[in-house]
Amino acid sequence: MIGMVDYHTHSILSDGKNTYEEMVQVAIEKGLDEIGFSDHICLQPFDWAIRMEDIPVMTEQITDLKLKYKDQIAIRYGIEVDYFPDSEKELKELIETIPVDYVIGSVHFIGEWNFDSDKSLYGKWTNDQVYHMYFGLIQQAANSGLFDIIGHLDIIKKFRIYPESNQDKLFEETIKVIKANNLVVELNTGGINRPCAEYHPGPKLLEFCYKHHVPLTLTSDAHRAVDIARHYEGATEMLRKIGYTEITGFNKKVRRSIRL
Ligand SMILES: [Zn+2]
Ligand SMILES: [Zn+2]
Repeated sequence: MIGMVDYHTHSILSDGKNTYEEMVQVAIEKGLDEIGFSDHICLQPFDWAIRMEDIPVMTEQITDLKLKYKDQIAIRYGIEVDYFPDSEKELKELIETIPVDYVIGSVHFIGEWNFDSDKSLYGKWTNDQVYHMYFGLIQQAANSGLFDIIGHLDIIKKFRIYPESNQDKLFEETIKVIKANNLVVELNTGGINRPCAEYHPGPKLLEFCYKHHVPLTLTSDAHRAVDIARHYEGATEMLRKIGYTEITGFNKKVRRSIRL
C-alpha cells in the first residue's frame, strides 16, 4: 500500500487492545507510509477515553516512537475529541496543550446521550429528528474551529438507524458547512464491521463531499493492530470511482496531498 495513511486508531490508553508500538509494527508490516494515533479525549470521564493524567504519557510515548521508527514509517500524533457544544472554550484550552499533528472532531453524544454505545433512547424521537439533532451538532462542530478532520461523519447510522424521509437537503447543507470551514472528512472504513456494514460516510454524503470539493483522508478506526488499514482496497477503488485522485495528509497541522 504505497503512500497510504491510517489516521484513526486507538491504543490501550483509550479503548484499544494494543500498545502504540505494536500498532506501529503492524502498520510497517502492512506497508503504510504513515500511521496516526487518535485516542479518545472526552471531557467526561468515560472508561473508553484516555484518563486526563495519561495525556502526558501519550505525548511521551508517541514522541519517542516517532524518533525510534523515523526511518521506517512516519508516525502522526492525532486525537479523537468528543464535541460538546457547551464546552468549546474548555475543549480549545485542552487541545492547545497537546502537541498534535491533527485533531479529529467526533460527535458521540446528543445532549447527555452517548448514542453510539447506548441504544436505549432510539425510538424516543423519530429517526428524522435524531438525524437533525446529530447533523446539527456536526455543523456546530465544524463551525467551532476546534478540529482538522470530521470523524465518522454519519456514525448515527451505526445501529442501522436510517431517516424515515429523504435527508439530502440536510446532508448537503452539512457538507457545505464543512467546506466553508475548510475541514477534511475521513473515509472511515470501520463502519464495514459495524451493524450498518457501510463506510462512514455512506455513498450519498460522499457524493456531496466530491461535489463541493471537500478533501478526504483515509482511516480504519482500528481498536486492534490487526484492523489497521482494513478494507483499504475497496475504499480506494470506490474513491477513485467517485472521482477523487488524492487524499490529505497531516504533519503538525500542515496539510499535503497524497495521490490515490
Ligand atoms: Zn469515534
Ligand atoms: Zn475512533
